[in-house]
Order: sequence, then C-alpha cells, then structure tokens
Amino acid sequence: MADSKRDYYEVLGVDKNADDETLKKAYRALAKKYHPDMHPDDKEAEAKFKEASEAYAVLSDPEKRRQYDQFGHAAFDGGAGAGGFGGFDFSGADFGDIFGDIFGDLFGGGRARYSSGRSNGPMKGANIRTSIRITFMEAVTGVDKELELNLKDECKTCHGTGAKPGTSPVTCTKCGGKGQVVNIQQSFFGTIRNVQTCPDCHGTGKIVKDKCPDCSGTGYISSKKKISVSIPAGIDSGQSVRIKGRGEPGVNGGERGDLLVEVIVGTHPIFRRQDQNIYSTVPLSFAVAALGGEIFIDTVDGRVVYEVKPGTQTDTRVRLKGKGVPSTRYKDVRGDHYVTLVVQTPDKLSHEAKELIKQFDYITGNSLNAVKNSGVTVDGDDKKKKFWK
Ligand SMILES: [Zn+2]
Ligand SMILES: [Zn+2]
Repeated sequence: MADSKRDYYEVLGVDKNADDETLKKAYRALAKKYHPDMHPDDKEAEAKFKEASEAYAVLSDPEKRRQYDQFGHAAFDGGAGAGGFGGFDFSGADFGDIFGDIFGDLFGGGRARYSSGRSNGPMKGANIRTSIRITFMEAVTGVDKELELNLKDECKTCHGTGAKPGTSPVTCTKCGGKGQVVNIQQSFFGTIRNVQTCPDCHGTGKIVKDKCPDCSGTGYISSKKKISVSIPAGIDSGQSVRIKGRGEPGVNGGERGDLLVEVIVGTHPIFRRQDQNIYSTVPLSFAVAALGGEIFIDTVDGRVVYEVKPGTQTDTRVRLKGKGVPSTRYKDVRGDHYVTLVVQTPDKLSHEAKELIKQFDYITGNSLNAVKNSGVTVDGDDKKKKFWK
C-alpha cells in the first residue's frame, strides 16, 4: 500500500518548503472541493478528501512533518488500520478542532465562509436545506413545484448593520475587529492553533450598541417567499436540487448561500423503482400462458401491447427496453422496465370449466405427480371410463 500512496506535498499541491499558512490554504481549497457534504455518494471525491485530510494531518504537525520528510510514508506504517489510513483517527476530538476551524463554513450551522483570510471580509451566506414530497410519476417525468419559505433579507432601515439609524456599530474589543480569536492548544497531534469565530461579535468584528428597532439588531428581516423549484425528470428519493442564491444572505457584501431542496419520492401502486429501472408484475391467464397472445402492460409511458410467447412459465421476467426512468445526468438515456409475468391458476371454477380441465388433463396426460385427482387417472384403459363416468 505504502508505495501506491501519493506524496503528501503532491497531494496538497505545495512545495516542500511550504509554510503553515500555505498548507492550510491548500488544504482548505481541496477540502471544500471534495468534501463529502458537497458530493454525497461520490466515492472518488471521498477518497480525495481523505487523502488531502491525511496529508494535512501530517504536514500541519511539525513533529510528524519532520518524520515524514525523513522517512516518507514508512514513518507511519504499521499503525492500526495500516494500508488504508495509516492508523490515523480522524474522529479524535483534537482533530475535530482542526476541522471545526477549517470547516466552520461546511459543518457549522452559522455562516458559510468562502473568503479571503480575513473573517470580516465578504462571506457567502449559509445554505438552507429543506425537503419536498413528490409523486412517483412526478419523479419520472420531472415537475415544477413552488415552495414557500421564510427567507432573510438585509434590513432596509439599518442596511444590515443592525445599528439604530444615526448610530454605528463599534469595533469589537475582544477580537480587535478581526472576527476571530486564536487559541493555542497542546494535543496528541502536537500544537494546534485553533482559530474560532469571536463569541462576542460572532465573526463580524463589530458590536452593535444601539440596536435597530426594525430588526432587533440582527440586520435581517424575514419574510415568506415563493420559490419555484424545477425538479428534473429521473430524480430519485434523497437527491437534492440546488437553487443558487436562495440561501441565507451573505455578510459584508458576500453572495447569498444556496437553497438545497431534498426530494422525497412517494411509492406507486404498480411500479417499483431501483435506480433507473422499473419493476412490476402482471397476471397472466393460464390460457394465454399456454397458447401465447397479446396482453396489455402498464408502463410509465402508458399501456403497451406485449406479445406473450406460447408456453410461458410463471415468474418469467421480460424486459421492456427504455421504458424505465430517465437519467438525470445523461440526456435521452433511460432505464428499462422489467415485468414479471405471473400465471394465475384458475379457481372458483364452474362445473363446466372443471369438466373441461379434466378433459384437458386427460388428453395431455399432464397430471404431474398426482396420486389421485377428481376421477382422472393417467394409468391404463380405465382412465377414459373414469373420466367420462
Ligand atoms: Zn435593522
Ligand atoms: Zn469580536
């Protein structure tokens, strides 16, 4: 495994003399690009994210970096889980602090930060998540829906400062207007410079003394907004539609976050779905199964006529090519519809029908494994006698 691992500096795209700030910047960029939250179910992105995290874990720790520079990957082999992760425990509390710092934007419920070193520079607003229920058929065909959501907008009275008109926010004394406070921590991984959002000013660098009466000092006014959501054909339950710029407002001139609408798809009385394929069962009469013939089959495109072959056994599965669910990724690509034909054994028979079945059985000699059945035997000459009574 060790020899297939990429060089940590190469992973982060920095040179061997990169300082802490450069490492952090490089990791931050990669982490954002490949973070699993941004790429649900994307194994490649996940692997890249882990690779970058591991590289950063080592290179950001002076002691581990020294060992790595000297021995390469061999410095960390042989730990628990060697080969995959070289024994790094990314769930540890100390690591959590690093993540808390770097991913305040991704994990934090607060504001997303996509800028620029200075935390009181422009910041993109946080994403908002919501969900919507649609029917099975709406997921197949695609549908436009309207959502009503409470969205924040900048308060017009104070222009988002939160300060009463005629007053101005003052520079936060706790962080000196930086919006961040730095803690130095000793931990298992070495010294961690833990940067946190300033608790007093919540990262804005400013403190409002006289609050704006309209927004109670928050700088925002919430109101109900109608938002149209265009859900593409082929979407599956659990997938999300992203609507750019309909999330929380940005801070200090940053752009708005996005709205992520998770789609929950209902069930269908006839069709089941797995990925792009549809499954259903269709009953087949004994006669059609035996003799063949045309039947109707319901598909998401409506009824189609299907030619059943003579001598079709029960549970035969047939494929209706291209009658499945459209791909959201590739235009004109659709899954298939698999139909299981279930032969119905006749029941609730009239006297006449019973007699005909007996006659049929007699003619075909088909009483498989029968010990005795309703006067029909398949042995000897007396079968005719018994059948006809
Ligand atoms: Zn206001
Ligand atoms: Zn502050």
